[in-house]
Amino acid sequence: MIVYLDEPPRSAGLVIVGGGVVGAATAFYASRMGLQPLVLERRAALCTLTTPASTGAFRLQFDNREELELVRESVELFLSFNDITGQSDYDLGVRQQGYLWLTTDDRRAGRQRTLVAKQHRWGQDDIELLDGDEVRSRWPYVKDEVVQARWRAGDGFLDPKALTLGLVSGSRAPVCTGCEVVDFRTSNGRLTGVETNRGIVACDAAVIAAGPFSGVVGALAGLRLPLTTVARHKVVMPDVPEVPPGAPMTIDDDTGAHWRPALRGAYLLYTDPTTPPSPPADDVTPDYRFAQALLDPASPVSVARVSDFWERVWARGAVHWFIQSGHYTMTPDHRPLLGPSDIPGLHLNTGYSGHGIMGGPAGSRRFIDVLTGRTRPEDNDFRLDRAFSPRDLDIL
Ligand SMILES: Cc1cc2nc3c(=O)[nH]c(=O)nc-3n(C[C@H](O)[C@H](O)[C@H](O)COP(=O)(O)OP(=O)(O)OC[C@H]3O[C@@H](n4cnc5c(N)ncnc54)[C@H](O)[C@@H]3O)c2cc1C
Repeated sequence: MIVYLDEPPRSAGLVIVGGGVVGAATAFYASRMGLQPLVLERRAALCTLTTPASTGAFRLQFDNREELELVRESVELFLSFNDITGQSDYDLGVRQQGYLWLTTDDRRAGRQRTLVAKQHRWGQDDIELLDGDEVRSRWPYVKDEVVQARWRAGDGFLDPKALTLGLVSGSRAPVCTGCEVVDFRTSNGRLTGVETNRGIVACDAAVIAAGPFSGVVGALAGLRLPLTTVARHKVVMPDVPEVPPGAPMTIDDDTGAHWRPALRGAYLLYTDPTTPPSPPADDVTPDYRFAQALLDPASPVSVARVSDFWERVWARGAVHWFIQSGHYTMTPDHRPLLGPSDIPGLHLNTGYSGHGIMGGPAGSRRFIDVLTGRTRPEDNDFRLDRAFSPRDLDIL
């Protein structure tokens, strides 16, 4: 059960700014360490900005060891969620239907082999390489042009809203909604409280977990954070009989276009690497051209490029769809930003760069370990003062 307050209290042990999945996970691990967290959410309800717009997908197929290990820990939580959180009001509905990365290109097939060899060296030896015929024998919708796939059966998807609310419920932390943090109070340079639209909450520690608004909230305290926000869209097709309900997350590794079964149809996505950053917003404007680019077989990033039934769906034309949109909160190296800021008492847990559902829970456990001194600052891979080495966007 979630404990809602009508008004913010006068003080708290740890004020958490933001009630998305990252704020929720922070509350959960803070409670376990006896920190008396309080969640403040500006909107009328928890989990109403970026988190519900996500695809809710998780995978261990990463191109770097740090994120692989992070998500591995989150997945342990997902698979025993009710036992670990001690609540049964929210069920994650985990579906381990796998992640299937398909390529039609021999050079990319070579890169897949190199990556899978690395992943095996990192201890993730359940990632397989399949040739085109093997792929088609398991998933008959895959087109003849596909020459190879990398595949992990244990990857999957879950309900991100249940994840967020279950973590808050399991934390037993009080929550105040409609409560916006508008400033921070300091004395001798140290945090002493947060100012909200509904009064001041005294605290020695606060954490900015405000998703795309983290940079804006940090600026209230004079912080300049290495964050940018980039609009991303998800096509929701609630009812498509052609979609096999047991299909994996199916990714065109050559373009980044991907889809997965959802509802009685599918979610479809594409991460366009050329999209410029845009300011954070409560309503990210959906773009119908995005749906057309994914659905029209004539488009170079169409999901029909590697999965045949999408051609029939397009030809039939009668299928309903709509778009849900949100912002990715990006850091220069596309890894989260967690730990203390330059202002003693004020912390960050944000910047998950499109991976906050799968990375946020374990990231928040690590954040709390840094906050409580169980992890030394120099052992924190995601500290704010690390050297950021830019890298290619991980396409999902
Ligand atoms: C289309 C799309 C698909 C995605 N798919 C996946 C996926 O499959 N897997 C995955 O791991 N990740 C995915 N992501 C990324 C994931 O959704 C995010 O990383 C994650 O939801 C971020 O959570 P958050 O709690 O940081 O932010 P949010 O969910 O945005 O929550 C932040 C909260 O802070 C509140 N807030 C802001 N300012 C204030 C203030 N001043 N005072 C109080 N409250 C404030 C906001 O109202 C908001 O509720 C996807 C994202 C998008 C857009």
